[in-house]
Amino acid sequence: MKPIRVLGLALLLLTLTTSCTAGKLKVVTSINVLEDLARQVGGEEVKVQSLVTGLETPHTFEVRPSHMRALAEADLVVILGQGLEPWVEDIIAGLGKEVPILEVGQGLEVLEEDNPHLWLSLGNALVMIRAISRALQDLCPSRADYFAANEQSYSKKLQDLQTDLKMKAADLSDNRVVSYPASYPYLLQEMGFVEAARGELHHGQEPSAKGIMGLVNFMRKEQIKVIIAEKQFSDRLPRLIAAEAGAQVVYLTPLLGGLPGSDDYLGMMRTNVESLLEALKLP
Ligand SMILES: [Zn+2]
Repeated sequence: MKPIRVLGLALLLLTLTTSCTAGKLKVVTSINVLEDLARQVGGEEVKVQSLVTGLETPHTFEVRPSHMRALAEADLVVILGQGLEPWVEDIIAGLGKEVPILEVGQGLEVLEEDNPHLWLSLGNALVMIRAISRALQDLCPSRADYFAANEQSYSKKLQDLQTDLKMKAADLSDNRVVSYPASYPYLLQEMGFVEAARGELHHGQEPSAKGIMGLVNFMRKEQIKVIIAEKQFSDRLPRLIAAEAGAQVVYLTPLLGGLPGSDDYLGMMRTNVESLLEALKLP
């Protein structure tokens, strides 16, 4: 397999001051969270499309012909990296031409080896939009001020939301949760929740019957009130565990559109955290 070509920003600058005068830079992103972030920074100067929608999983995504067309026309491809999109390499190889790729997850602190859910942290989103802004400024220097201004105003929104949610989470007397899916270490750590245990050993891998019983006993003994589940996947086991342990299932979403109120990144992060706050506040 041909290794992915990640072009640095300096190289972007040299090679890609192309279609920005035409009005719309075409940006293709891997997941819809990055689609929203690219749109926040790019505004009216960009046309953004995500390959993965909220109803699919980026880990085992399958590329369709329409995706190849979008990629072939892209001025910039934005991916997370860190192993989230192993399928992007094949796509690029299949295109037979160079497409500039920005890997926004590069340089972010990895909490767990092979756990790429780094976008579920408002602090990481701040770093990611800075990278997107720089790439767009390099692609279209005449609109650099516009992108920088968008970046600045959206950064403020991210910071305000982070402050607000962290403050609310700090008020909890019990901040311990069990997460069934492996998707939330970044979100939980940022907000000061304690992930006391986890259902999935690896992402997408069910625990054994013994593992489930161990989890139930642990939650009973420690009196942990919340287990996190996702609508995108089967919630049969989290529900079973919750029923046995006398706990509540709280649904979170890793991508936009997975829950009501999660149609943009700020809304998704707020919805996720407030769902946890609400459940943990219950007596
Ligand atoms: Zn995932």
